[in-house]
Amino acid sequence: MTIPETMHVSRLHGTRDLRLETSSVPQPGAGEVLLRIASVGICGSDVHYYVEGAIGDQVVTAPIRMGHEFSAWVPAIPCGVCESCQHGHPNLCPKVRFCGTPPIDGVFAEYAVMPAENCFALPDGFSADDGALLEPLGIAIHTVDLAHLRVGQSIAVLGAGPIGLLTAAVARAAGAGAVYMTEPNAERRAFALDHYADAVFDPSQEDVVKAIVAATGGRGVDVAFEAAGAPDTPDQAARVTRPGGKVVVVGIPVEDEMKMTASEVRRKGLTIKLVRRMKHTYPRAISMVSSGMVDLAALATHRFPLERIVEAFELVAARKDGVLRGIIEVGKESPEVTPR
Ligand SMILES: [Zn+2]
Ligand SMILES: [Zn+2]
Repeated sequence: MTIPETMHVSRLHGTRDLRLETSSVPQPGAGEVLLRIASVGICGSDVHYYVEGAIGDQVVTAPIRMGHEFSAWVPAIPCGVCESCQHGHPNLCPKVRFCGTPPIDGVFAEYAVMPAENCFALPDGFSADDGALLEPLGIAIHTVDLAHLRVGQSIAVLGAGPIGLLTAAVARAAGAGAVYMTEPNAERRAFALDHYADAVFDPSQEDVVKAIVAATGGRGVDVAFEAAGAPDTPDQAARVTRPGGKVVVVGIPVEDEMKMTASEVRRKGLTIKLVRRMKHTYPRAISMVSSGMVDLAALATHRFPLERIVEAFELVAARKDGVLRGIIEVGKESPEVTPR
């Protein structure tokens, strides 16, 4: 294949100011490989940067290329030598370079370079979209890992966006008993009920805490996963959990704070865990897809070429038209260029 000198990229200059630009194709350094990008998912975190310009103290101050859910490789590059890395928690590395998070450029571009050791080969039968969706699936695996779920335990998942749905899928595969979900968006509720949930409650229509507690005969669920990032969902997660149970928070709130009622979490002696990205989950994510435990293709609801990325972000931000993951199809797979 001939590699061009310039490429199309998309850079965020400020809130709702996403521009298509031309940039030179990067040159791989020692231990790096040049990658031709295939599919890139639009993550909820990308939408936070697009709409709000920040997630906590990670603020868009200079033009940034977003994008970290992409075909066939792991985007986070830990330092490898700090205490967190040495103890097997590269996701907690304070010096981690996570692509598409300010100030590190991401992959809404035709080419990118990555360390070869961070690339995972996709088995035959995987589409480029499957490859991109391995990243949120990896998050869901890490989320369920943190719960130490036991076979037959009941769970609640608050929020039926892609992360909530994948969390439910992984928990099901890990042996969860009853799965209760909450979600205000009707299309997402229908998808959840169709695929992973025993019951889905609408927080705009009913008291979802009462509904879930009643569904468990007044006991509460063993584990509640907060996957909405809404102002009241962390507290709801605490309230639907049984005494001695666990709450795992994976959602990213718009306001940089999280509230739970102190007496509720204290009297129940709840264990509360927070998800920071993922670690060592790509091989298991690949194995889950290979063995048919999860259908990633169903989540890739909308596809756009790079030229229409603004339209794609607006659709995902508005959660319209039943969108789950919007995928930017940057390059088409071809026999001589297999994304690895
Ligand atoms: Zn993501
Ligand atoms: Zn480190």
